[in-house]
Amino acid sequence: MKLYYDLHMHSCLSPCADDDMTPMNMAGMGMLKGLSVMALTDHNSCRNCPAFFKACEGYGVVPIAGMELSTAEDVHMVALFPTLDAALAFEEALESHRMAMDNDPAIFGNQLVMNEKDEVVAEMKPLLIAATDLWMGDAVEMVRSFGGVIYPAHIDRDSNGIIAMLGDIPPEYGFTAMEYRDGGKREAYEALYQEAAGKSVLVSSDAHQLYKISEAENCFPFEVEEGASAEEIRAKIFSYIQNG
Ligand SMILES: [Zn+2]
Ligand SMILES: [Zn+2]
Repeated sequence: MKLYYDLHMHSCLSPCADDDMTPMNMAGMGMLKGLSVMALTDHNSCRNCPAFFKACEGYGVVPIAGMELSTAEDVHMVALFPTLDAALAFEEALESHRMAMDNDPAIFGNQLVMNEKDEVVAEMKPLLIAATDLWMGDAVEMVRSFGGVIYPAHIDRDSNGIIAMLGDIPPEYGFTAMEYRDGGKREAYEALYQEAAGKSVLVSSDAHQLYKISEAENCFPFEVEEGASAEEIRAKIFSYIQNG
């Protein structure tokens, strides 16, 4: 069985995402579009992942808990965790690394935490789109210490992509995967940037609106047995990402 995926999406917890990007709406839209696996990657927080897991399980989609981490260099990185618990433990550890600046919903948008019934249970105070105080090396080390994988987000984008911000992909972090917004740009990037070549490739939507969630168009270069469990599927995906 092929696994169609989208591993970079923002819920209503990200101020820049639509308020109707609720966990239930996202999971339902993913199911309608034929996705088998979805990761929730809000800016610098995993707090909608518990509701997202429940919603995905209801719709028969395999969920992955993640976040889009902004390093101190203001580079966007995708961090994915093997379990919901690991993601929530990371969230706690990240708290002291967020910028001490509160969100102004009138300017940046709402930061809504939802429960599994799509009810708002809290609004997050710290502005989640600000950079953290974690330099890239510390961010990489911290995510890995929680069992997570971390790789540069949308390397083909100007805003907050690693190449746009740093001029190149530094080899010292040992990245095993690269994320593209547009998979068609892969060959050109691999020719230009040595560190991008030969890595596992992920193409994801970075959706902030429901209609932008990927169609069933990107699948992994491996298949799984019909009836494989969510744990088995997540393990295969992590091993693919780690072995690029
Ligand atoms: Zn980003
Ligand atoms: Zn994003």
